[in-house]
Amino acid sequence: MRPTLMPLDDAIAQLLAQLPAHSATLPGIDHVSTFDADGRVLAQDLVSALQVPAHDNSAMDGYALCSADITRAGTVLPMTQRIPAGSSGHALAAGSVARIFTGAPIPLGADAVVMQEDCEPLKDSADDATVNIQVNVVPRPGQWIRRAGEDVRRGTVVLQKGERLTPAALGLAASIGMSKLPVTAKPRVALFSTGDELVMPGDVAPADMKPGAIYNSNRFFLRALLLRLGCEVTDFGIVPDRLDATLDALKKASQQHELILTSGGVSVGEEDHIKPAVQTLGELNLWQIAIKPGKPFAYGKIGRGDGLGSTHFMGLPGNPVSSFITFLALVRPFLLRMQGVADVATKSIALPAHFTWAKADKRREFLRVRRNAAGGLDLFPNQSSGVLTSAVWGDGVVDNPPGQTIAHGDGVQFISFADLLS
Ligand code: AMP
Ligand code: MG
Repeated sequence: MRPTLMPLDDAIAQLLAQLPAHSATLPGIDHVSTFDADGRVLAQDLVSALQVPAHDNSAMDGYALCSADITRAGTVLPMTQRIPAGSSGHALAAGSVARIFTGAPIPLGADAVVMQEDCEPLKDSADDATVNIQVNVVPRPGQWIRRAGEDVRRGTVVLQKGERLTPAALGLAASIGMSKLPVTAKPRVALFSTGDELVMPGDVAPADMKPGAIYNSNRFFLRALLLRLGCEVTDFGIVPDRLDATLDALKKASQQHELILTSGGVSVGEEDHIKPAVQTLGELNLWQIAIKPGKPFAYGKIGRGDGLGSTHFMGLPGNPVSSFITFLALVRPFLLRMQGVADVATKSIALPAHFTWAKADKRREFLRVRRNAAGGLDLFPNQSSGVLTSAVWGDGVVDNPPGQTIAHGDGVQFISFADLLS
């Protein structure tokens, strides 16, 4: 009898239930240089000790003045000081203007900046120095002034615990003076591939490949995906299809890692040794997940043998696209939550299908598609789980519910790879 298939959302919920809700599982907090914190997850709220900008400042190169002094265009006022960015000037003498540059603090007594294009410096005939400025517009009070605290107010939470840091977030943290940031530890992941057919690129030249041999492609994208998710990866290479070798690799990998991730060998053929090996060392659940590509997925735990609890185990299917999709659907949210990210759901947007999909499947499908210039989605013609080209050609997937056909022009849910991989 065929096993009943588990809906993907149930599988995700079961995986996340293995971790404490909304907090990082990993011990300790790293204090890393703000330069190196891209992609890391904040372990504490960041509260600003100052306001940004610190002072009202000029948004333009021009002249700071008191708007009440200019009631008609063409008014001429003396220039009494010069305030470049980085200096602070002094109170503005009544009825005068200050030469000011972008970012320089507005002097006391000024309430507007007129951009230099709207002013005319009048040269003094004696020494050629500019002393008077003809203002050719009537300024509005407040114009071209960036207000103190308009970006960040003192005492507010600028970035929240559990937020994954982006380049812009690093800039914001730096703007409040943070040279180091408290982030959660990196998950340590042991990675290995199973399969006697696998050969590493570089070990055997394409012309010398034996019949039945294939290059190990999963190892490359899985490693890259893990690194993008902020993990430390130990690569155990290719493990042969033998029980003793699989046991050996799992025992080693269970030390000093939070997760063991494998690809291949999770079907139930007699060459698939992952199941008995994990069961010998710990516990294993073989799930048949109702997704395509994907389906076979294993989750288990292996005792660390050092009294420090257990190491999570996840076994992905061997077919490259299945491996890629199950990683994004199941491993990604798990690893993000492990680092303390609260919202790990994938985001999708509705876009029109510029293709037809006539054959409904009883599983939820992730179809490799690409956005086109007309604002719709094109479908990669070969959706086989072995065709990795589809995941390169595509810039995302359509999340197609079970039993659903798609007609040209139908609104479908698009999940972008860029969102998942950033
Ligand atoms: P398995 O899940 O071990 O039954 O493998 C399913 C299919 O995926 C087989 O065609 C394997 O040759 C292929 N496969 C398994 N592991 C890899 C890998 N690391 N790289 C590329 N193909 C793989
Ligand atoms: Mg295999």
